[in-house]
Formats: sequence, structure tokens, C-alpha cells
Amino acid sequence: MKFISIMADERSGSTFAGTYAQYYGKKVFYIGELDNGLIRMVQGRNGTCSCGAKYLDCPVWGQIMLDVQKGVDLKKIIMKIQEITGAEVIVDSSKDISYHQKFRDIFGNNHSTIHIKRNPKGVILSRMKSRKRRIKKGNHPKPHIANKYNSMMIYDCITWSYRNSWMENFKIKGNNLDLTYDLLDVELPSKLLKFYKENEIEVEKKKKDDHIIMGNKFTRMGDIESDINVSHSWVNDLQLFQKVIVDVSTLPVRLWYKYKFRKTA
Ligand SMILES: [Zn+2]
Repeated sequence: MKFISIMADERSGSTFAGTYAQYYGKKVFYIGELDNGLIRMVQGRNGTCSCGAKYLDCPVWGQIMLDVQKGVDLKKIIMKIQEITGAEVIVDSSKDISYHQKFRDIFGNNHSTIHIKRNPKGVILSRMKSRKRRIKKGNHPKPHIANKYNSMMIYDCITWSYRNSWMENFKIKGNNLDLTYDLLDVELPSKLLKFYKENEIEVEKKKKDDHIIMGNKFTRMGDIESDINVSHSWVNDLQLFQKVIVDVSTLPVRLWYKYKFRKTA
């Protein structure tokens, strides 16, 4: 069995990429964000799977939730997912970077990564909008901190820089696929298919049952069949001073790793 970790900062298209990977892979199963799903399960919260069922009623997560409540053993959980789904390749997009290390410790040479980076201005705007939505709805756990949007912007830039440098150092050449959110419409599916070929993963372009435990629920299998729409709304929606702050504070990482986010064509 092969295990693929999708490594990405927040709001960088990881749920989309995982869904896409499952759509193009013959025996590929996409988990979603296992770290966040497990937090819910351990707390005994019966969340909703992307199939529409509550975890306990879902054919995949129902059995696993009962096991998890007795204790979390990542290796056992993955083996059980494999047993239930018959998958040969399992893809996860946990946001907690320590999970990527845990999966490498478990799967060794059978562990690969997909690193997706996104223009930090896009990440910052998307996180800002998401905080505003949650505060408005009244379901943000720390609204008094989250509503300091410009301070949070600096925090997001530091997180973006830290997480991307960590990922750069973690990935192994030849065992990693590099994607850029801002270029997904030109990079997919060609780069993914090449990666599948190199890793001997069978391709089958087909909509399959999805059971995403956690992630951006707006990305569903149905959407994969239409054109890929990447958002560049930061160009108009961020103010000039915000663009400058984001550019300056993420400059070291962008320069060091030679990141390019604009389409060249
Ligand atoms: Zn399900």
C-alpha cells in the first residue's frame, strides 16, 4: 500500500487536490483531513462525512469511530480504511504538519507527498474572508482575536512562511509532486498523471464514492468534471497596504525557494 500526504497551508486547494487524486486514481481513496476528523471523533462529536451520513452511519467512518473511541492508533486506522475501501493508495491532507512525519515513520519508502503552495496574498484574503464569515455566523471560537484582521494577516504570513519552509525541507526529491494552487488549471491533470506513472499508480478517470472526513466541503466529486476554477480575487479585494505587507513578510521564503505564482503564458 502507498500513502500520500498532501501538504499545504490553509486555503490552498488541498481538499480539491485530494478529491482530484481520487477521481484519477483507480484504487485511490482520499481521507480528507484526518487530524481534524480524529479530534472530533475523540471528543465524541458525530460529524458529517462528505457522503452525507453522520460518521457513525457512514460505511467507512462508522467502524473507525468506534475503534477511535477506544484509543487512537494511526497505523491501525489506515489499515482499517484499506480493508473497508479496498484502496491501494490512501491520500490524506491533514493540516497538522506533525501528521506528515507520523505517516512517514509508519510507511517509510511507501510514503510520498504532494506539496501545494499558493500565492500568500490569496491565502491571506481567503483566511480573512473565512474569519469574517465565521464571526458573522457566531461560530468562531475566538472572535475577539480573529476580528483584528490586519494583525491576523501578519500571523498568517508567518504561518505561511513557516509551514512552506518545513514542507520544503521534509519532501524527498523523486517522491514528491509539486503543485501551485494558482496554476492548477494548467498543471492538472498532466502533472498528477506523470506522478502516478512514476509511482506505478493505476489511472482510472471516474467518479467514485467519496467519504471525506473533514475539509472544504464545497469541493465535491461532481465539480471535478468541470473546468478548474482558481481564485485570483485578491488582486481586487486586498488593499494596497495589505498586499505590500504580505509581499514583504513572505519575501525571504518566496526568494529562497524561487516561488512563482503567476502564469507565464
Ligand atoms: Zn461517508
